[in-house]
Amino acid sequence: MKANCWMGRTTVEVREVPDPKILNSRDAIIRITASAICGSDLHLYNGYVPTMKKGDILGHEFMGEVVELGSEVRNLKIGDRVVVPFPISCGRCASCRAGLYSVCENSNPNAGMAEKLMGHSPSGIFGYSHMLGGYPGGQAQYARVPFADVGPVKVDDDLSDEQALFLSDILPTGWMGAEMCDIKPGDTIAVWGAGPVGQFAMASAFLMGAERVIAIDRFPYRLRRAERAGAETLDYEEVNVLEALRDMTAGRGPDACIDAVGMEAHHPVAVMHAYDRARQATRMETERPHALREAIMSCRNGGIVSVIGVYGGLLDKFPMGALMNRSLTLRAGQCHVQRYMEPLMGRIRNGDIDPTMVISHRMRLEDAPEGFAMFRDKQDDCNKIVLRP
Ligand code: NAD
Ligand code: ZN
Ligand code: ZN
Repeated sequence: MKANCWMGRTTVEVREVPDPKILNSRDAIIRITASAICGSDLHLYNGYVPTMKKGDILGHEFMGEVVELGSEVRNLKIGDRVVVPFPISCGRCASCRAGLYSVCENSNPNAGMAEKLMGHSPSGIFGYSHMLGGYPGGQAQYARVPFADVGPVKVDDDLSDEQALFLSDILPTGWMGAEMCDIKPGDTIAVWGAGPVGQFAMASAFLMGAERVIAIDRFPYRLRRAERAGAETLDYEEVNVLEALRDMTAGRGPDACIDAVGMEAHHPVAVMHAYDRARQATRMETERPHALREAIMSCRNGGIVSVIGVYGGLLDKFPMGALMNRSLTLRAGQCHVQRYMEPLMGRIRNGDIDPTMVISHRMRLEDAPEGFAMFRDKQDDCNKIVLRP
């Protein structure tokens, strides 16, 4: 089959690779009909995650048709259309039973690698480095889906691929980002990063009763998208974000702040990779404002900072003093996607959310290298790319 493979820093290549096979009785093989490129893929593309190997198949947002099933998967049939959540989760461990699917205890065979960096291991993730399980991803014609008896959700014919695809990740992620803000009617929510994840966080914040949403980014086309969704906007290259947010909130600051930027921050602080001790590698460094630091510094006293932007390693210059002295709450996580898929599918059906709004480009799988470069550089008003294997 064809698959989009990581071949080194800023290099991906569509290659011929062996078809996946059923390895366990709870596996399914999916023939992929739609797959997407995510901001999280850019962390791998830009080389911020060191446990990638040449030839690793990328992609964690995908859906398709079931073509083969392990003996223990009884909830699916050959031919079913399914959308697959990006965290690989057993459904049975203490974390999964508590609804904390992205920290499943049974899905990362390389947990030791993750523990070195993070203390404990989160779940495995499709196409997301060996530290997170080394699972081949879904920017491919086929994928093996472990724990298929509990992960994938059936999609009926009334929903198109493009309506259902983002249930795999970015729609639930944006929703969880807003949910972690404990939004009360009348609240003002600020969102750093007006990418697809930020856009879904904004839409979710409004659905949860936020009165005002303030979007912060530097790309005019993305700020215009936020504006069309009802948000006020700040271009962080034009204004001092801390001062502007103060002015807009009677000096108090937003009730909650969402970081939908992560490591890809345009003005990153140092991200240190603990495992790179030999070189004490400082991948990114600058004194300019950083999204997470701004979110913490601008949040109102007693407010909530919700981090859905992805980080790895250690983050330097973290304003712990503000967090402690001003009674802030910090919440974070890879999305517990499985928790949100069914309820959000209901909201797509009843018209509360139209996930297709984020799509700007549709490409063939073969064009993934061009897609990665375009999405990374935000060329051609690139917002979200769907690949059709
Ligand atoms: P994206 O690259 O399309 O969007 C990121 C946006 O952040 C860009 O528009 C960029 O201009 C903006 N930005 C950069 N620096 C900024 C700054 N200092 N202040 C304000 N905005 C800034 O990516 P995306 O697909 O929208 O994903 C966003 C983040 O969400 C990524 O870190 C991704 O890894 C993460 N993510 C997390 C989860 C999860 O489960 N928690 C799931 C999916 C994606
Ligand atoms: Zn993603
Ligand atoms: Zn589990």
